[in-house]
Amino acid sequence: MAHGSGRHFLQIPGPTNVPDRILRAIDKPTMDHRGPDFGRLGRELLAGLKEIFRTRGPVVIYPASGTGAWEAALVNTLSPGDKVLMFETGHFASLWRELAQRLGLQVELVAGDWRHGVDPAQVEARLAEDKGHAIKAVCVVHNETSTGVASRVAAVRQAIDRAGHPTLLMVDTISSLASIDYRHEAWGIDVTVAGSQKGLMLPPGLSFNAISEKALAASKLSRMPRSYWDWQAMLTANATGYFPYTPATNLLYGLKEAMAMLLEEGLEAVFARHDRHAEATRRAVVAWGLEVQCMEPREYSSSLTAVRLPDGHDADAFRATTLDRFNLSLGNGLGKVSKKVFRIGHLGDFNDLMLMGTLAGVEMGLARAGVPHKPGGAQAAIDYLKTAN
Ligand SMILES: *Cc1c(COP(=O)(O)O)cnc(C)c1O
Repeated sequence: MAHGSGRHFLQIPGPTNVPDRILRAIDKPTMDHRGPDFGRLGRELLAGLKEIFRTRGPVVIYPASGTGAWEAALVNTLSPGDKVLMFETGHFASLWRELAQRLGLQVELVAGDWRHGVDPAQVEARLAEDKGHAIKAVCVVHNETSTGVASRVAAVRQAIDRAGHPTLLMVDTISSLASIDYRHEAWGIDVTVAGSQKGLMLPPGLSFNAISEKALAASKLSRMPRSYWDWQAMLTANATGYFPYTPATNLLYGLKEAMAMLLEEGLEAVFARHDRHAEATRRAVVAWGLEVQCMEPREYSSSLTAVRLPDGHDADAFRATTLDRFNLSLGNGLGKVSKKVFRIGHLGDFNDLMLMGTLAGVEMGLARAGVPHKPGGAQAAIDYLKTAN
């Protein structure tokens, strides 16, 4: 491929842009993962992660994409044939469900329209009916990356408590951790699943489970076969800062830098920055006369915005235009919304001018691709950004 001058705009909702500080941190000789320096690094990382997940409990790190951490959450806590309650919020929730089914779990799926998050009232009603406590886990995708809908996880926890049900609560935060407010311990989450390549600003290749005491107790009774994903082997080695098998050493150098960057900015400031960019983006979409996929304002995602194209217009053709003309990658529509939506990622290492470059690229792309719209979306975002804190 011929060199294009200037930076590529990688505005898909993950993998996200990897900041130079992290690239430089990764670009170091790989060390002996059984040597003394590694133990110090491991202990520092495992302690630091607690701050990011907002927990005092253990967080384990896998050299795997997010899908691995989905599997780890299920195989460490459940037994073959166990019933789990899942919600069809979009493509990622559907993939997690398929994974659970392939593992031999019995999935009860609450249907959804891909434009709303998990309804806490539905959670409460379903669990209240389950008098025999057949449901062993409730699995929720916090930020549904295919639709730009963020479920209200704290409200789901409250719904479970109101129903007085002992189920585990597992949450996928792969595209929300370090972008949208999330509290593993305060919200009573049993297993939090996360990945490296979105809010954590790292390349793909690491994933995480944050584990509650209740989940740890469940893992002692769980009968799902597991080996690579086994928490116990991981936690035993982690106690001294090591891993039971070769860790992704260079990505861990990057993780150390990523955590330093997030804590320098402050997590509250990181969340506020994401909220602000999301609001500016939605104002642009409304000014273009296009529709945001998410229908519930209190569920708007601050990580990404999925935008619906008018009927008869192919979102993938539009995306091909922005890539060809402006070297701008936008997210594609996945699953049921394939070709119907495109997604603007505004998470990770991102600032006002990167957002304006992105929105200008979208607006010029809409015109070039012949998608009916009103001009002025980029201006609407400027009008917001120039005054909003
Ligand atoms: C990206 C993403 C995944 C998939 O993770 P992989 O790293 O591709 O395995 C799962 N869930 C959500 C919500 C995601 O955004």
